[in-house]
Amino acid sequence: MDSWTGHEVPRLPGAGVPLALFDSARRSVAPTRPVDPATMYVCGITPYDATHLGHAATMLAFDLVQRMWRDAGHRVRYVQNVTDVDDPLLERAARDGEDWVVLAMRETALFREDMEALRIIPPDHYVGAVESIPAIAERVGVLLDRGAGYRLADGTGDVYFDVAAAPRFGYESNLSREQMLVFAAERGGDPQRPGKRDPLDPLLWRGARDGEPAWDGGPLGPGRPGWHIECAVIALGLLGDRIDVQGGGNDLLFPHHECSAAHAEVLTGTGPFAAHYAHAGMIGLNGEKMSKSRGNLVFVSRLRGDGVPPMALRLALISGHYRADRQWTDDTLKTGQQRWHRWREAARSAAGPSGAELLAGVRGRLADDLDTPGALALIDEWADHALAGTGADPQAPTLMAETCDALLGVRLRD
Ligand code: ZN
Repeated sequence: MDSWTGHEVPRLPGAGVPLALFDSARRSVAPTRPVDPATMYVCGITPYDATHLGHAATMLAFDLVQRMWRDAGHRVRYVQNVTDVDDPLLERAARDGEDWVVLAMRETALFREDMEALRIIPPDHYVGAVESIPAIAERVGVLLDRGAGYRLADGTGDVYFDVAAAPRFGYESNLSREQMLVFAAERGGDPQRPGKRDPLDPLLWRGARDGEPAWDGGPLGPGRPGWHIECAVIALGLLGDRIDVQGGGNDLLFPHHECSAAHAEVLTGTGPFAAHYAHAGMIGLNGEKMSKSRGNLVFVSRLRGDGVPPMALRLALISGHYRADRQWTDDTLKTGQQRWHRWREAARSAAGPSGAELLAGVRGRLADDLDTPGALALIDEWADHALAGTGADPQAPTLMAETCDALLGVRLRD
């Protein structure tokens, strides 16, 4: 599948700083230690609706990971999927009387446009579930052959993963079994379904049903893939057996990332699948959780349509720490817009305080688990001085603009 168009990222002077990132499995901030290339897999959208602020915030967090790695001299190999066939997509298409393929194509196109407007560095491989079906079916077959998967005996053709085949199951999310059962039920799993060996066993392959799309699964029979195996197979195929970062929103902690890691580890016989499991917080609206059921999603395309400069939106979204569940209010956006105008003005100053010190400061803040509030505060302070005429470094405004461009992805100069 086509990705979106990227842009030049300026090379900054001096040496970048190694990135430390919170790992959900270890429950602590730990240095990333990528070898060449650094590898990252971020779980993408299920394209049944437009990109909302929560998606954008998640994609921005991992964009900053890539920028920090590049700044530290690493080549980066980045893969993102798009779950272009799954229950929520089919349900939405049925509700609206729309062809599910058309819906998926339209929303994926809009997502690409939003990502490009926000200046998110595109993945090297942007991969759909549908185009990956042959590879997924093959790997599900391997899991079956190894006894790590089993067919349900109800004639549906559904294949499940046996969580008992993954001895470390649970290490990624660190949740109690009770909590896992709750999340499995809330987030697309089916713990109540009769006939499974363990209520937590996730679906690998869904046998064909009347009125649902299905593909040839070879020995599996016709059907379509489960969601967790989709990500595991795409990542293994393009990034290798072990990756540096698996990323997504914190609602993917369980079951999605736990199960995709378990699938990958049983398939490869090694682990952990990811050195870091990194999770971005959720964005709420005016004190409420933003969700499709509440009908209060704020769409990136809507804000763009209202004339909000994408760079102001980007600044507003990174003004909070990526891991925090945080609220979006009118003030969040207003502050982002004000900051964007102020920084642009400061970048046009004749001089400012030391640009090298600013760069070192921003690198240091971002290297510490992507502390964007800290980085933004340093740039705010620099801008105050530049605008007050109290800085003496004539090169600083250019370096400030390049720092914002390369590390924060915020372009200040046209
Ligand atoms: Zn995923």
